[in-house]
Amino acid sequence: MELYPQTKPDYEIVISGAGPVGLSLAIALCDLGFECLVVSKDGDFEPQKGNFDGRAYSIAPACWAMWRVFGICEALEPFAQPILKVEAEAANFSPICFDFEEDEEIDGPLGYIVETHAILSTLWEKARKTAGLTFKSNTKLSGIKTQSDRVLISLNDDDTKISSKLLIGCDGRESFVRKTAGIEFAGHDYEAKGIVATVELTKPHEGVARQVFLKGGPFAVLPLKNNLASLVWTERIVVADSLMTLNDLDFELELREKVGDFLGEFTLKSGRFAYPLKMRIADTFSTDRIALAGDAAHTIHPLAGQGLNLGLKDVAALAETIGKAAHVGLDIGSTLALEPYDEWRRADTINMALGMDVLDKMFKAPPALRGLVGFGMSLMGKSELARSFLSREAKGVSGRNMPQLLQGHPIQF
Ligand SMILES: Cc1cc2nc3c(=O)[nH]c(=O)nc-3n(C[C@H](O)[C@H](O)[C@H](O)COP(=O)(O)OP(=O)(O)OC[C@H]3O[C@@H](n4cnc5c(N)ncnc54)[C@H](O)[C@@H]3O)c2cc1C
Repeated sequence: MELYPQTKPDYEIVISGAGPVGLSLAIALCDLGFECLVVSKDGDFEPQKGNFDGRAYSIAPACWAMWRVFGICEALEPFAQPILKVEAEAANFSPICFDFEEDEEIDGPLGYIVETHAILSTLWEKARKTAGLTFKSNTKLSGIKTQSDRVLISLNDDDTKISSKLLIGCDGRESFVRKTAGIEFAGHDYEAKGIVATVELTKPHEGVARQVFLKGGPFAVLPLKNNLASLVWTERIVVADSLMTLNDLDFELELREKVGDFLGEFTLKSGRFAYPLKMRIADTFSTDRIALAGDAAHTIHPLAGQGLNLGLKDVAALAETIGKAAHVGLDIGSTLALEPYDEWRRADTINMALGMDVLDKMFKAPPALRGLVGFGMSLMGKSELARSFLSREAKGVSGRNMPQLLQGHPIQF
C-alpha cells in the first residue's frame, strides 16, 4: 500500500546536512522561492560550545561573490583574511616558483581565508532568518524510498516520515543519501593525513598564502586575521599519527625541525586535528528524485584548498538548474530536470581532482625527479600564460559557463 496517496509532498526540497554546502544551498534555493527543510544531524552551530574543527578555508573570489549575493560577506569580513599573494615552492629548490601578486585580470584579492566556525556561524545566522527555510536539528535520515512523484524519507526521531519532490545529500563524504541511493563513490586513499593547527606568527604574514612541497607531502601556511596562520601539514599516516601523540612542546620542536625557516617564529594557538586524505568522486551527481552536492559528491586532496570551493560551485549550479526547471514547468525531482546539473559539475570536478592527484604524485617522485619538478614549476611561475591559467583556476572563474551566482548576480530567468 502506498504510504502517501495523491496529496502534495510535505516539502518541495529536503536537504540532508547543515555543513557549509547544505546551508549555502538552502539559502540559494529559498531565495528562489522554494520551501526547504534542512535535516541536520547536529544541533544549531554554536561556536561557544567548542565545535571548532581546526580548519580554515580558502574561499575563491567566485564563491565569495555568491556569498555576497546572499548578503553575508559583511558579517564574514571581520574574520576573513584577504589573500594578496600565493607562493609555492619545492623543498630544496629555490627560489619561489609561483607568485601571484594581486591579479592583473580581475580586481580584488586572490581569495579569503576564513576559519570554519566563522563560516558556519554566519551561515546559520543567515539561514535562521531565511524565509521558507525550516530546520530539523539533532536528526538523521534513516530510510529513503523513491516513488514516481516524490521521495519518502524516514527520520530517526520517533520514526517520523516525510515526503518531498527532491532530496539533496549535502551530508559529507560518508553521505547516507549517496550510499542509500546506491551511487558508487570511486577513487583512492592518499595513505596520508592532513594535520591542521593555528599558530601566531612573529613576523607579519602580509596576506601571503604559502606552500612548500616536502617529502611527506605539502605543507601550507594560510594567513588569518591578527597575524595568525592556519597550518595544513600533510604526512604519511604513520608519521602523522605519531605527530598527533606528541605534546605541544615536542610537536613545535618537530615543526621547527621539518619546516624551520619556511614558517619562521611561531606559537601554537590551537589544538591539532588530523584528517585522512582521500580522493573520491560519485558516479553521478543526480538520479531520480535525488541530487548530491559538496563532499557527498566528491572529496579531493586539500593541497590547493579547493574542496569546499567545488562544493560551493555545486550550490550555484544546482540552484540555477532547479530554478530553471521549475521556471519551465518541469518536475524539479525528475531525471530530466536534474541531468544538466550532472553535466555542468562532474567534468569540472574530475579535472580538479585529477589535477590535485598529479601534483601530489609529482612531489612524491624520487629526489632526482623532484629537482626536475621544481625546475618545471619555476619555469611555469615565469610563464604569463601558465600564471594566468592557474590564477583563474584558483579564483574559481575558469570555464565558459559560469553559474550566475558565481558571477555575483542573483539567479534570473
Ligand atoms: C585538512 C583539510 C583542509 C581543507 N582545506 C580546505 C580549503 O582551504 N578550502 C576548501 O575549499 N576546502 C578545504 N577542505 C575541504 C573541505 O573541508 C570540504 O570540502 C568541506 O567541508 C565540504 O563541505 P560539505 O558541507 O560538503 O561537507 P561537511 O563539511 O562534511 O558537512 C556535512 C554535514 O552533514 C552532516 N551530516 C553527516 N551525516 C549526516 C546525516 N546522516 N544526516 C544529517 N546530517 C548529516 C554533518 O554533521 C555536517 O554538518 C579541506 C579539507 C581538509 C581535510
